[in-house]
Amino acid sequence: PAQTAAKYLERIRLDQGPEGLNAFVSVNYDLPPEVPGADGTPEPRLCIAVKDNICTSTLPTTAGSLALSNFNPPYSATILHLLLQSGAHILGKTNMDSFGMGSFGVHSSSGPVRNPRDRARVAGGSSSGSAAAVAGGLCDVALGTDTGGSTRLPASYCGTYGLKPSYGLLSRHGIISYADSLDTVGLLARSLPVLSRTFQILNQHDPRDPTSAPEDVRQAVAGAARERLRRLGDGVKGLRVGVPAEYCPSELSPQALRPLRNALRTLRRMGAELVPVSLPSTRYALSAYYVLASAEASSNLARYDGVRYGFRAPAAGEGERGDAAQGYARTRTRAFGEEVKKRLLLGTYALTAERLTEGSAFDNYFLQAQLVRKLVKRDFDAVFSAPNVLSSLPAENPTGVDLLLHPSAIGPAPLFSQLAEQDSLDAYVQDVLSVPASLAGVPALSVPVSSQGMDRGEEEEVEGCVGVSVVGQWGWDELVMRVGEVTG
Ligand code: GLN
Repeated sequence: PAQTAAKYLERIRLDQGPEGLNAFVSVNYDLPPEVPGADGTPEPRLCIAVKDNICTSTLPTTAGSLALSNFNPPYSATILHLLLQSGAHILGKTNMDSFGMGSFGVHSSSGPVRNPRDRARVAGGSSSGSAAAVAGGLCDVALGTDTGGSTRLPASYCGTYGLKPSYGLLSRHGIISYADSLDTVGLLARSLPVLSRTFQILNQHDPRDPTSAPEDVRQAVAGAARERLRRLGDGVKGLRVGVPAEYCPSELSPQALRPLRNALRTLRRMGAELVPVSLPSTRYALSAYYVLASAEASSNLARYDGVRYGFRAPAAGEGERGDAAQGYARTRTRAFGEEVKKRLLLGTYALTAERLTEGSAFDNYFLQAQLVRKLVKRDFDAVFSAPNVLSSLPAENPTGVDLLLHPSAIGPAPLFSQLAEQDSLDAYVQDVLSVPASLAGVPALSVPVSSQGMDRGEEEEVEGCVGVSVVGQWGWDELVMRVGEVTG
């Protein structure tokens, strides 16, 4: 309880300095009061680290950007209220790529985050500090966000569990928007029971979030999911696990295959059936994701104009004072980093309606990307045995699978020294395996699985780790976590 918080705060303090992980951007040094439980001993409290794009009324919320460097939200996110009500203790706010845009945790106004397993490597992004805090033993559980992989990728790089729940289950009220149609809250922990307990606290409808799944939809899936878990009992006997052929793209490093193979072996040994499946639209998902996420971001980030709140660049000279447009430009030029600016330009272009010779950019990019998103969703619905309760014609598919398994990332965390030779496309391609579940809104959990070779000749030491992702039908988060627990 209070001692646990004190222990974490001491570790956080010791980790500060130029050689530290740089996981936290602000710390709550107050200790929680001890509340005696039924037997007189203090009640245990979950000690939580919170990504800095989740609004907290007691700590600043910068979203990793100079644009919000002086922002103290007047309210806290719903998920924070739920956690505090359950007795959790907030340790502090964690470092992140500006507005959630990045894969390596190097695009933050507070500097890069180091990977606790190997400080020469990146922690992954954009929930970089959350993953580093969990892997570095600086908290019990961390809140992140996941728009296209930002919880699963750093979890994979740092060797922790990382869950992107079904879109709409966890409230987004008080989360700083990146791309609303894709944004979800994410959870990271070293142990699955802790992650699952946190999920249960947060899994409820919020009338303040218009995209929060209503009670009847939750009920429509809960009964079937509970029944499936009951029939499975403690194990996974009879579980049908799909292995999608398209999740081994040419960029995949051989290191990413070993943990997958180990996880599949474990499941088969426990009586699960492995089924090869195909999700043919996967290869278009990454391009569609970057068009849609950037388009939504270009609209969302228009609010950072230096007028209502956030950072405002001082006027350069007397003559400029009255010109609003110059003021916005000056503020936004200073406030946003290079990566954010790139996304805003790309997103604004993709929404441009002006007709060129062959249709507008809106027709050619934004609408095409929306079509791809539909196809990606349809692929998932075609392989899962459970119907998608959100689609208009939910139908069971008796030859379908319960879950899918694939590598979480194309390889282990890059070294900081390797980033200098890379361009943004190298960062974007890290998300190739995580964006399909984001486009479809289905739950996905990255599980740390040993990469130790079980075959002869596979003994050599592997540097860095790669997680295995378990993906389920919308609303089947509990089943995803159950299978994550037995494979991890
Ligand atoms: N790397 C992805 C991006 O930059 C992931 C973002 C996220 O999930 N927040 O868009």
